[in-house]
Amino acid sequence: YNNELQRSEKMEIISQLAASVAHEVRNPLQVTRGFLQLLFERSSQEKEKSYLDLSINELDRASAIITDFLTFAKPQSDNNGALDIGEELDKIVGILIPLANLQGGEITLKAGRKMLVRGNSSKFKQCIINIIKNSVEALNGEGKIDVFAQIEEDMVRIQIRDNGEGMSANELEKLGEPYFSKKTKGTGLGLMVSFRIIESMQGKIHYSSVKGKGTEVNIQFPILKE
Ligand code: ADP
Ligand code: MG
Repeated sequence: YNNELQRSEKMEIISQLAASVAHEVRNPLQVTRGFLQLLFERSSQEKEKSYLDLSINELDRASAIITDFLTFAKPQSDNNGALDIGEELDKIVGILIPLANLQGGEITLKAGRKMLVRGNSSKFKQCIINIIKNSVEALNGEGKIDVFAQIEEDMVRIQIRDNGEGMSANELEKLGEPYFSKKTKGTGLGLMVSFRIIESMQGKIHYSSVKGKGTEVNIQFPILKE
């Protein structure tokens, strides 16, 4: 029999299982957080308050890990197909605009239509959201994030630019390494997930950044001919 097929069937089962677990675990985390918050607000004891604060932070960490991995995971199988990059980016940017506005930033999108690549819509969304969310988190007021997509020869090229805090050469080197994070509430797992998804789609990603100026991300996928 075909070993490769067996492996991909196993992966499919694992990812469906993970999606159900993510779904089931999110609600109790939120409920528990709500009650801890209530206790925190009622407490007047410093020590008790610090324990409750710690517990809430740990719950937030658990939620952040689920968010980085499984925001769009679906319990039923959803396979690779033709993705219209423009359409997908439209949806992704729509989801992230409120988050950016909350940080005092804005996102623009310029993308054509009928730029098809092969991939899985939920995974692609997870991949790009993790990247743009980092841009949003790098903004410090009045920030701007611009997303472009266009066809270049036999590739679809996506470009994400922000005028956020930027990175040093040293930080750039560590991108995608599990647990590399400079944020107090970071997981350091977001880009690892994104890089893996891009690899699985036969794509390429490249970061360039200037500390204090901003960051530019270039992603390329082989175009899918109709
Ligand atoms: P997390 O966001 O949880 O820290 P990521 O894997 O998503 O983990 O990102 C790793 C680190 O890379 C971030 O902590 C940040 O320091 C850096 N980074 C990624 N994208 C950007 C960006 N657009 N601007 C500045 N720093 C970034
Ligand atoms: Mg991140």
